[in-house]
Amino acid sequence: MNKLSRVLFLLIACLTIGIAGTQAATITAIRAGRLIDPESGTASANQVILIEGEKIKAVGPDVAIPAGATVIDLSKLTVMPGLVDAHTHTALTYKEQPENNYYYLTYVMDSSPLRAIQAASNAIQLLNSGFTVIRDVGNNALYADCALRQAIEQGWLPGPTVIPSGPMIGSTGGQLWPTPEMYKQHDIMFPEYIDANSPEEIVRAVRQNMLFGARTIKLCIDCKPWGYSVDDIKLAINEAAKGGCKVEGHVQTPEGAQRAIDAGIYIIAHGNALTPEQHRQMAEKGIFLTGTDTPLTKYRGTEAQFKVTVEKLHDAWEKKVPLTFSTDFDYWNDRMKNDTSGEWLTRGEMTIAFLDTWKAAGIPAADTLRAMTINGYKAADIIKDRGPIKAGFYADLIAVAGDPLTDIDTLRNVQFVMKNGMVFKRDGVMVPEKFFHPGPVRIPNGRWTR
Ligand SMILES: [Zn+2]
Repeated sequence: MNKLSRVLFLLIACLTIGIAGTQAATITAIRAGRLIDPESGTASANQVILIEGEKIKAVGPDVAIPAGATVIDLSKLTVMPGLVDAHTHTALTYKEQPENNYYYLTYVMDSSPLRAIQAASNAIQLLNSGFTVIRDVGNNALYADCALRQAIEQGWLPGPTVIPSGPMIGSTGGQLWPTPEMYKQHDIMFPEYIDANSPEEIVRAVRQNMLFGARTIKLCIDCKPWGYSVDDIKLAINEAAKGGCKVEGHVQTPEGAQRAIDAGIYIIAHGNALTPEQHRQMAEKGIFLTGTDTPLTKYRGTEAQFKVTVEKLHDAWEKKVPLTFSTDFDYWNDRMKNDTSGEWLTRGEMTIAFLDTWKAAGIPAADTLRAMTINGYKAADIIKDRGPIKAGFYADLIAVAGDPLTDIDTLRNVQFVMKNGMVFKRDGVMVPEKFFHPGPVRIPNGRWTR
């Protein structure tokens, strides 16, 4: 060890002690009236969940509660793991006014810092509705999604665990058909997409996103007729694996979907292009679907679109595709109000409203619940230490009145939310004070926290 190494070592040791000091492990015991295991689709009565600091220490009917532990009585509620939106966009909101839902204009009119702050607000709203994990996959300006993850990890604000993709990687033009003026003036259309047109550029783009904090890689498979080949997709999968990332492919044609399936992609986004035969292949290969199954509401969609979405979701379920709950939420208009109260709907309320599609598709509550939890944790690639309510896992959990295994609509009214062992919502009211920390509590330096 040379002198510099010794100094660095001491510095790191001090920082580590400092961090440990700010997080003296408190012990919390939750009394759960019922506790759901979404994996098996069963519930157990009268369970105790013991939490030390951020993690679950023990779960069971006879767990002893140590003297001095904080006891939270949820004996009248049903406790379950937190929910996952496996495909959303927190830092893009296109509107009817002034941009006529034309999101090229949103990129021009809403600054990146403003979009990042809106992402933070959306994250709080999502946590309030019980979403403890989100995959935030593109259209997030210059890495606002990665910054959101980092800010939540630092302890600056409450929010779900964010699995960011950074900008979508696509062939020339990304999802847009820009004018030459937009395309050549790269500051306008980009950073929404990274152009990667050759093997070398694909590798470079994947590495760049991982360097800046992506935890998943998002490819535009077939946004253009010159989209990615099976070999291109395989190359991206291999490169992403080096940084511990899985790949999601945006598909909009059956041909593109087939190339993604043949390449062995981890997740396919958007269900509308998929054929029944492709559902069968996805089930066989275990490829996750983030179908982004938009319900028909007064603020979004048409009956014809909804009918197709419901049919496709039902077929995917029947063929046993690993389904996740996903929204693709990235819009706003002035019809987004509660029918009874006339109040604005929150981002969390509009996300949970996607249950309408799952109900219309005739999917049993237990299967919907599995999609919203276990399959979401697997698609987010976090299931080794986050999601299920088990000893050694991060303490993320929610509680509702009633029984979501028989009545999925109970999830629309989440009463209690805990994230990383801290209470965010209690008796239906947000109590997020403990989440707002002024300094770095988790990452002393650097972004590479894998
Ligand atoms: Zn999307």
